[in-house]
Amino acid sequence: MNSASTDVLISEVGPRDGLQSIKSIMPTEEKNAWIDALYKAGVREIEVGSFVPAKLLPQMADTAEVVRHAKTLPGLTVMALVPNLRGAQAAIEAGVHKLTIPVSASAAHSLANVRKTREEMIEEVQKIAQYRKEFAPEVKVEAGIATAFGCTIQGLVPEDEVIWMAEQAINAGADESGLSDTTGYANPAQIKRLFRRLKAAIGSKAGAAHLHNTRGLGLANCLAAYEEGVTSFDSSMGGLGGCPYAPGASGNVVTEDLVFMFEAMGIKTGINLDLLFEARKPLQAGVPSEIIYGMVPEAGAPKGFMPATQWGG
Ligand code: ZN
Repeated sequence: MNSASTDVLISEVGPRDGLQSIKSIMPTEEKNAWIDALYKAGVREIEVGSFVPAKLLPQMADTAEVVRHAKTLPGLTVMALVPNLRGAQAAIEAGVHKLTIPVSASAAHSLANVRKTREEMIEEVQKIAQYRKEFAPEVKVEAGIATAFGCTIQGLVPEDEVIWMAEQAINAGADESGLSDTTGYANPAQIKRLFRRLKAAIGSKAGAAHLHNTRGLGLANCLAAYEEGVTSFDSSMGGLGGCPYAPGASGNVVTEDLVFMFEAMGIKTGINLDLLFEARKPLQAGVPSEIIYGMVPEAGAPKGFMPATQWGG
């Protein structure tokens, strides 16, 4: 997946995960300007929206338009989230390169989120994979195992069930399956254990780590996943989607902080930190009433900071 010049792939999910969890609706033009700025900074995979009914998520109503714009950026993988076959058909029609399907490991979350049992959701993955095979074989299909580390409704999610769901998604035809800490419950030990088991179960089809920073362990969890061999990470600029009732508690792992961590360690992301900070401006301009988080953008990079590409060897 990664180009030869990078060690890890940072997949920006802010335009989807971030924007769908805030009240403000970002105008299409502003979304496009933000995506352009992210691309300019070196981001090469962006989840630009989701194909869901506009009455459920008006923030995502313009996703097809945003996909068409994002596709004008050479070398950018344009992704969208789809909860069902209908969404997948719309996404393929709009021209996405990659679909991501949320598949809950928690039985309770599955019913609440997509109003389907887990088994019904696997059937949906199968339908989508079959449709893709017939009509758009070049499009990649990812199943993200949601609530893989715990659920706000049922609490504990048995690890065996998480791995079983990932196996079922792959058997149903998904190209890869990653693990999502939808609720921000995970800790590094748990991350290591589950990604190790995921790799043992589905091998090279083990996909991205989609981690949230709700309890402050986002970066620690990303590092733990990296140490288990994960090379694809979802994150969101400004940690967008943070809870307004818990100041400082962000939603997704902050892209800027994640890029800084990897680059400071000599791990190449392909992303320029200064240009990434610049990309916060169109984001803030598009959703002026939202709080944009991030430790490194606030503090600045350390004096003498050397990005990974400038390391010798
Ligand atoms: Zn998320």
